[in-house]
Amino acid sequence: MRRRENLQLPKPGPAGGTGGSASPLRSVLPILRRLYGPRRRPGRQDPVGVLVATILSQNTNDANSSAGYERLIRKMTTWDAVADAPTGQVERCIRVSGLAKTKAPRIQATLREIRRRRGRIELDFLAEMDDGEAFRTLTAFKGVGPKTALCTLLFAMGRAVFPVDTHILRIARRLGVLDEKVSFAMAHEVLGPLIQPRDRYAMHVLLIAHGRAVCKAARPICGQCRILQLCPHGQRTMEGVWNKGQEDTN
Ligand code: SF4
Repeated sequence: MRRRENLQLPKPGPAGGTGGSASPLRSVLPILRRLYGPRRRPGRQDPVGVLVATILSQNTNDANSSAGYERLIRKMTTWDAVADAPTGQVERCIRVSGLAKTKAPRIQATLREIRRRRGRIELDFLAEMDDGEAFRTLTAFKGVGPKTALCTLLFAMGRAVFPVDTHILRIARRLGVLDEKVSFAMAHEVLGPLIQPRDRYAMHVLLIAHGRAVCKAARPICGQCRILQLCPHGQRTMEGVWNKGQEDTN
C-alpha cells in the first residue's frame, strides 16, 4: 500500500445544445493560473490509493479526506486487510471523512471486486491500456463511477482526461459552456474535448479551487470574481444587484 500525494484531488457560450465554444474555457485558464498559481501534476501514485482517496473525497474537504485516508492506511497496512476487515472497523478509520456508513462498504466492495476479477488488489495493469479501455475497465468495477475512474487516470496515471466534480459542473453551467440538460455522469464527455489535453489537469484543479473560494454553490461572490467578464450567469447576477441599487437610490 503506497501513500498518495494530496489530491487537489477554466465569452460565454451558447445556452442551447449540449456543449459550447471552447473559447471561454481557454480564456478562463490563464486568469485562474494567475489567481491560484500554476498547478503541477504530482508524480505517479498508486492507482488503488487514488481510487480509494477519490471515494473518500466525496462531500468533504481535502483535509478531512486526507485525514481519513491516512488513518485507514496507518491502521490497515494492506488493501487486502481493508477489504477483509469488519465494515465497522473501516467506518471508524474513515469517520473524519464523513458519510462513513456509505463510503466504507463502497470501498470494501470495490477492493473485493478488483481482487475477484484480477486475483489481487492492484491496478497497475491499466498502464498497458489506452484511456478509453482503462476507463471502461475501471467503471466496470462495482462502485466505480465516471468521476472516480477519471480521477484515478488523471492523478495516478498522468492521463489527459477531465474528471468533472460538482464544482466544475456548476461553474461550467454558469459560464454557459455546459447545458443544464447534460447530466453529471455525461459532463466529462462534453467538457473534456473543449480543453487541450495538456491543460486538463490544471483546468480540473483550478476550477475546483475557484468553486471553493469564489463560485460557491449557494452564494457565488460574483462582485469579486476575476472571470466575471466571461460569465453570463455572473453578469446577470450583477445586473440585478446594480438595478436594485439604482432603485434604492431613486
Ligand atoms: S461571475 Fe459569479 S457565477 Fe460566474 S464564475 Fe464568477 S462567481 Fe461564478
